[in-house]
Parts: sequence; structure tokens; C-alpha cells
Amino acid sequence: MAGVTAETTSTRSQELIDLEERWGAPNYHPLPVVVERAEGVWLYDVDGNRYLDCLSAYSAVNQGHAHPRILQTMVEQAHRVTLTSRAFRNDQLPLFYQELATLCGMEMVLPMNTGAEAVETAIKAARRYGYELKGIEQDRAEIIVCENNFHGRTTTIVGFSSDEAYREGFGPFTPGFVTIPFGDIEALRSAINPNTCGFLFEPIQCEAGINIPADGYVREALELCRRENVLSIADEIQTGLGRTGKLFACDHEDSRPDLYVLGKALSGGFYPVSAVVGPRRVLELFRPGSHGSTYGGNPLGCAVARSALAVLQDEGLVKRSAELGEWLLGKLRDELHHPAIKDIRGRGMLIGIELDVPARPFCEALQERRVLCKETHDHVIRFAPPLVVEREDLEFAIEQVREVFATA
Ligand SMILES: *Cc1c(COP(=O)(O)O)cnc(C)c1O
Repeated sequence: MAGVTAETTSTRSQELIDLEERWGAPNYHPLPVVVERAEGVWLYDVDGNRYLDCLSAYSAVNQGHAHPRILQTMVEQAHRVTLTSRAFRNDQLPLFYQELATLCGMEMVLPMNTGAEAVETAIKAARRYGYELKGIEQDRAEIIVCENNFHGRTTTIVGFSSDEAYREGFGPFTPGFVTIPFGDIEALRSAINPNTCGFLFEPIQCEAGINIPADGYVREALELCRRENVLSIADEIQTGLGRTGKLFACDHEDSRPDLYVLGKALSGGFYPVSAVVGPRRVLELFRPGSHGSTYGGNPLGCAVARSALAVLQDEGLVKRSAELGEWLLGKLRDELHHPAIKDIRGRGMLIGIELDVPARPFCEALQERRVLCKETHDHVIRFAPPLVVEREDLEFAIEQVREVFATA
């Protein structure tokens, strides 16, 4: 299969790629497309080619690129005030708290910027909970995590990753984490002991390859945590806010964790905004001096996030994700038949095509056909277009995927 080679890359984009490689740390391996503009579901490269975005910046732009309403909020707020730090109060933060907590059916919010910071915040919350409410002896608290997890890139978080590429050369790592297989309720049961303060999990493992646990797993895990007085922490940074056809992936099992960890689509792709959302009895354990961030809770981010949440609700994007996602999954299953395809699975607009060969060449071939996907975990092609996508656009994508498999 032909990849994208130098002859299909223009001089202009090649110059920019060369500059990037020359001056930037090589911690990513992006597709060779240089985007200069985006609108809705479309990305435009420096040569004026138009691509259908089927990644949505890892589900950060569920609302579509440059959503006009969020854009307007951002510009207006930028003219008023962008950053106060938490040394002072601002007029956006309280409304952001109220609106996000209400949407989540929770009592309190703690705002940060990136997803990894929100995960770190949840880890701190779980440990405080362990010491102050559960009476765990000092420095003995344990948090249970799952194999093949992805929770971000800080040293603490990569320390409990099972992916050697994330960890190699970055130790020594933070102790206090116990790893169990994902989707195994008995493993969770036997890992819990009196020192367990939290269970951190993704309701669907996205980076690991769209791993969907068996029906009932999330509900049983959350019930078990409740019985055992263990704080359940759902990392819904990627699965949350409509991506899987429900507001949260946990909603598929009508269950609610103690803490939601949110990021990505919380700001519709405009600005880094993340948050931990949960009950008062846990989040009130943070007191002045115990945690913070210069930009966390800034008025620009809060205004943008309020707008991004309003768009999600006012445009019915969650329902849209469920309906279009089900249709897309059905179409892909009906129309794609190739010996390299092991499985096609998904929930809402989060769909993975698992191959028994590397997925990268397929993503490169799709790029040539103006559809941008990114492989995850080497063997899975992920489809996660913005939730504002139209059926005709998905038909275009399906046609390109079919062609790529027909010639592979
Ligand atoms: C993206 C992601 C993170 C990390 O978010 P960053 O903003 O990149 O730090 C954590 N958990 C999950 C499930 C994610 O998808």
C-alpha cells in the first residue's frame, strides 16, 4: 500500500515539516498534513486541500472546529478579562461551577487546564479521602488502576502505565498504585484492601484501542467500590460529553462514579480546560494551599467552557452522536470485508476498526483520500468525527474507507 510520499507533499508543507523536525522535540509522529485552517468537520492544509476530520483532536472538538458561538464567546471574553489568577475572584468561575456541576448531577467542581492535571487532581482527592475520611495510615493509600490505561503523561501517571514506551527512562515512579486487568470484576474485588482509597478507570479504553468492557462491568465495579468505601474515579476526558452517544460513557450502564474527570471537549477545542467533578464531602477536603494552578479556573477558559457545554446541549449533540454513531457502525460492519479486519466496534461516535496488521498505512492512504484518522495502539483505526458531522460527510468517509480496503 502506498503511503504519503514526498512527491505528494508540496514544497510549502515539506518546508514546514522540515522546520518542525529541526526545531521541535520529536515526541510525536504526526501524519504529514500541515493544517492552517478548520471549520466544522473540515480541515484545510497549507495547499488548500480539504480533509474530513475523523479524529476531532482526540474528541476535544466534539462541537466542531471554530464553532461560531464558542468563538464569539472567546473573543468577547478576551476583550474583557482573560486571567485573574485565583488570588482574586472572577465573574465566570462561579457560573462555570454551577453549570458543570448541574450538568453532571454533582455537587462541586475543581478546575484545572489539561487532562493530565485533572487526573493528578483526582489522585490527590482520592488520597485525601483515604486519609481523612477512611482513616488509612499515613502514606499507605493505594489506588487501583487498569492495564492498558491511558490517563496522561505526567511522571506519576506514566508510572502506572503498562505501556513501556510511556515509561522507559522516566523513573523512579510514584508508589501507591496497583494494576489489575481491565474489565475483570473479580480482579478488582481481590485487589481491594483496607488501604485502597480509589479505583481510577476509563469506562471505555480509548488509546488502548477502543476497548469496551462487557455489559455490567462499570455498574458492578462502581457498586463494589461503594460497598468497600473506595472512591470510584471515571476518567471521561475522552469518552465524556457526548462522544459515546450518552453524556458520559458510564451512563450506558445507568451508573455514576464518585468523581468524573473531564477535559478535551469541555472547551470545544478552543482552550485547555479540565475539571474534577464530584461530591462535596470529597472536594471540600481541598483547602487553601493544598492545590492550585495559575490558569486553572481563569475567566477566559470558564467562559469558553460554559459556551462549549451550552452548544453540546442546545444542539442536541449527545443524541446526534448516538443516532449517527449507530448508523455509522452498522454501515462499516455491512460494507467492510477484508481479511485484515479482526473487529469493528464502537459506541456512539467512537468507533474502532481493529486490524491484524499495522493501521498506520491505512491512515496514510485515507489521508490521500482526504479523510484524516489516526491509528491507536498500532492496530486500530479510530473514527471519532466531530458530533456536528452530517450523514453525507460520513458517507464520503465510508466510501473512502471502502476504497482503501478494496485496494489494500
Ligand atoms: C487525553 C486524555 C488524557 C490526558 O489529557 P491531556 O489534556 O492530554 O493531558 C487523560 N485521559 C484520557 C482518557 C485521555 O483521553
